[in-house]
Amino acid sequence: MRMLIMGPPGAGKGTQSKKISQDFGIPEISTGALFRTHVANQTELGAIVSAIMEKGELVPDAVTVAMLDDRLTQPDTAPGFLLDGFPRTVAQADALDQILATLDVDLDVVLSFNVDQETLIQRMLKRAAIEGRSDDNEETIRRRFEVYTAQTEPLLALYRDRGILVEIDGMGTVDEVHARIMEALKK
Ligand code: ADP
Repeated sequence: MRMLIMGPPGAGKGTQSKKISQDFGIPEISTGALFRTHVANQTELGAIVSAIMEKGELVPDAVTVAMLDDRLTQPDTAPGFLLDGFPRTVAQADALDQILATLDVDLDVVLSFNVDQETLIQRMLKRAAIEGRSDDNEETIRRRFEVYTAQTEPLLALYRDRGILVEIDGMGTVDEVHARIMEALKK
């Protein structure tokens, strides 16, 4: 199973990814989490991306694609993978197509979460209080939404046209949303 999980910031992608990854025994690959690890470990890449993330801007495509390419060619992805937070731009979607073509595999499904804006903001502010993620402040949250709407949301049409987009109602509890995903994936 090779899948993408898409949706605006705060839609619950990370939470649901972890569950799906366990259910299907495939690695969950989150570009945001990979970047946060680099920042925490004070790597060279971490130094490049930390200020960008603080502002809610996107890390340059070339940097993100190189990191993802490296991750997708590791052996644990052989049974499949779940990408969370990638692709976020048309260029990244094109790069992903090329990487997958080289590996001679296809995407099976793209999950997209629909959640109303007010709920998203409430969830993120709550997460800010619990996890203390430095990009979960009001100004950065607003910018991340703008970036999502301008750069990432248009990608949904691409996957819809390919017939692999599955839209999930992301409102309700974690378990309710998870049950909807499992139901949708049966089809
Ligand atoms: P969220 O979906 O809540 O915005 P993520 O953890 O997916 O959180 O991303 C956090 C930040 O990491 C983004 O705002 C961006 O700066 C950076 N980032 C993550 N994935 C990408 C990507 N595919 N391309 C560029 N930047 C990315």
